[in-house]
Amino acid sequence: MAMKKLVVGNWKMHGSRASNAELIKGVLAADLPKSAPHADVAVCVPFVYLSDVAEMLRHTTVACGAQDVSSRAQGAYTGEVSASMIREFGARYVIVGHSERRSYHAESSQLVADKAKAALAEGLTPIVCVGETLAEREANQTEFVVAEQLKAVIDTLGAQIAEVVVAYEPVWAIGTGKTATPEQAQAVHAFLRVQLVAAHPDAARVPLLYGGSVKPDNARELFSQPDIDGGLIGGASLKAADFVAIAQAAV
Ligand code: PEP
Repeated sequence: MAMKKLVVGNWKMHGSRASNAELIKGVLAADLPKSAPHADVAVCVPFVYLSDVAEMLRHTTVACGAQDVSSRAQGAYTGEVSASMIREFGARYVIVGHSERRSYHAESSQLVADKAKAALAEGLTPIVCVGETLAEREANQTEFVVAEQLKAVIDTLGAQIAEVVVAYEPVWAIGTGKTATPEQAQAVHAFLRVQLVAAHPDAARVPLLYGGSVKPDNARELFSQPDIDGGLIGGASLKAADFVAIAQAAV
């Protein structure tokens, strides 16, 4: 796809008000519109920091987002945060179905799909994560697993599937320092693209991000694959210099 790459930081449960301010200051100092003209950039932060971070990013080209959302619009759901609340704090994106939520919080593919729908209903762009475990890859189940995860979203969203972002994050590559090779990632991305286009022709435009130990030294090769439209960046998004260098690897 000949469009800008999308580079999204996932801060996970890291940060403090002081360290966030330093990190954002470092990212903004890089003047990304000039130094990384081929990347759209966003950071997905813990809920409690959305207000601070959105304020710091106001009038900049860096967008912000959340890392999860309730599948419900409102009501007696203690501890949940709705899409309209996230939207009210200036977020544009929300990650849904990150493997850490699927495994530690037993989120099903249907729940992830319902979260994506709730996000879209409030004008947020869901970043839907899919990916296989090492055991699943070794059992040649990769395509089966990611197809099942994506199918729930396709069936739930209908034509709105064209409005999402999909992130392929092999579980064995997240936070492990093991990156999928550009060829491994490209193969899964091409498979996902076929599923999306078969679901709806407009879904050809869905950005497909790769996530899993993306670093400044491997970003360029990953981003140069034909079906890799950007990255979802965990650990390296916590260091301004690394995150900036990854955005600058988009060409
Ligand atoms: C992630 O959490 O989405 C991720 C890809 O993490 P890391 O870059 O640290 O592997």
